[in-house]
Amino acid sequence: MTNTALKIIPETSTVPAEGYRVLARKYRPIKLSEVIGQDFLVETLRRGIEGNRLGHAFILTGIRGTGKTTTARIIARSLNCENGPTPEPCGVCGSCTSISQDHALDVIEIDAASRTGIDDIREIIEASRYKAVAARYKIYIIDEVHMLSKSAFNALLKTLEEPPAHVKFIFATTEIHKVPATILSRCVRFDLKRIESATLTDYFQELCEKESVTYEEEAIRLIAKAAEGSVRDGLSLLDQAITYGSSNVTTAQVREMLGLSDQGALLDLFHVMMEGNIKEVLEKLRQLYQEGAEGLRVLEELLDLTHWVQCLKISPELAQDIEITAEKRQKGLELAASLSLPTLTRVWQILLKGFEEMKRAPCPQKALEVLVIRLTHLAPLPSLAELLEGGVESSLEKKKS
Ligand SMILES: [Zn+2]
Repeated sequence: MTNTALKIIPETSTVPAEGYRVLARKYRPIKLSEVIGQDFLVETLRRGIEGNRLGHAFILTGIRGTGKTTTARIIARSLNCENGPTPEPCGVCGSCTSISQDHALDVIEIDAASRTGIDDIREIIEASRYKAVAARYKIYIIDEVHMLSKSAFNALLKTLEEPPAHVKFIFATTEIHKVPATILSRCVRFDLKRIESATLTDYFQELCEKESVTYEEEAIRLIAKAAEGSVRDGLSLLDQAITYGSSNVTTAQVREMLGLSDQGALLDLFHVMMEGNIKEVLEKLRQLYQEGAEGLRVLEELLDLTHWVQCLKISPELAQDIEITAEKRQKGLELAASLSLPTLTRVWQILLKGFEEMKRAPCPQKALEVLVIRLTHLAPLPSLAELLEGGVESSLEKKKS
């Protein structure tokens, strides 16, 4: 279940108007008080920085777009601000500005996705022995740290065990379970949460007002919902909506722009389909069309969904993936519990067959309706195995109850 909102937006709409600075850059928080939706993290960091009780290594984890590297830079600024250490770095001193402009000599940012080897880490360790050039601390920010090789982690571990007093490490990762426990035990861990859609809505409205962009509240709510907890995704959608609507963000445009991104609506569709409720299935389907969904996209999404539910059926722990919202997780697990594997396999087969049929159909939307009706009929029927196992009557009985 990927973030479909981003996949389907035409690339042309991402070209910003002349002189327009993308919101994510323009409003990137530079101090803790500007971070949204991470109250616990902000409070803990604030106390740590004020009391000078921060350790020498931190690890920030959370889904993409929740602000890990932004927070890492805020920590770097807080520690190295000429008027600090302070949770509210001034933003104007030499140290603060050099961090913002990516040329701070003592704040070294490394993307572990491209520098995974032992030699890269050796270089860092070697350099870390020398004092900071201009600032208080020498700070290493290692993004996607889970990508480091085993030998690189081992080398790093030695430095983490006895770090020079002037060195701080800030690690960021989307996959904390891939970071060795020996490293984790030497870091203070901060979990960045998925940001609630109400918080995002408020924030986006505030930005629209600052940018003198007119908007319909419903449009902003839709963007916040499609962002699925990621500020970055939300801001890039908002950027597109602003460019698309020439500084007037309307609900109709946003719906058109997002197309089919509402996973909740799809899960509902899948659910009523499996309950065999034809009338409701068709209503839901038509509603999706009205919101701009395309037939083939709906089918693709239903295939994805079937596969996901099947995976959940086999390994329910997959639902713990932090990329999945609580609501989606709940609905997915319910579906997995109520449907048998043979049923799910049949749903998959019918959908796949329908895919080919739809491509040839003169009216794909009607073809999809017919296909969905077929699935609605199929779902409440017992599988062949169930028939053999318990006899027709008891199987049908089971389905009814
Ligand atoms: Zn400063």
